[in-house]
Amino acid sequence: MEKFLTKIKEVLNQANEEYGLELDVAGYLETIRQNKDEFNEVLEVYRKTNYMNYFEDETEGYTNGEIELNLNDKTYTLTLLTEFREGKYCMCKPTDRGYNEEHHCCGNGCDWEAPVIQISKSNTVRVSYQGTARELWNLEETKQNKSDEINELRKALNENLQYINEIATNIYKINEQLNKLQRAM
Ligand SMILES: [Zn+2]
Repeated sequence: MEKFLTKIKEVLNQANEEYGLELDVAGYLETIRQNKDEFNEVLEVYRKTNYMNYFEDETEGYTNGEIELNLNDKTYTLTLLTEFREGKYCMCKPTDRGYNEEHHCCGNGCDWEAPVIQISKSNTVRVSYQGTARELWNLEETKQNKSDEINELRKALNENLQYINEIATNIYKINEQLNKLQRAM
């Protein structure tokens, strides 16, 4: 766990430097510590791969970016977020007790954004064609031949049906003539 946390710290500090961000590194680390059971699977992946990547936010500010870990076909994404905690509108002054210079606030009872980490896991399955290119071409040729054959048979069937119709019409006509002649006798 400590190795994992050290790596997260390193990755987030690097992101702050590289992208000029102000990610709350300590806050996110403490969030993981407080919820370590939720990170069991992610931790397992990190143990096996020793690798994770930070990606900058791509949602125009809805997140603080994300950390990705991969193992085989599985991807774990730790999305870094914050959650608004309502307090009172901050009117803290440097003379107040517990005033923090960096945050310009006493940090107790004022509105603030608490760190949140969203863990998601996605499974990707890739399947590929097995065989040679020639086999695939043959398959397509066979398919084409079969569909040509089907079309020809359909055409022949239609022609024969038309022929039957003509014969049936003729039979009907002859029969009518016959009946007429017989009635007239
Ligand atoms: Zn305040």
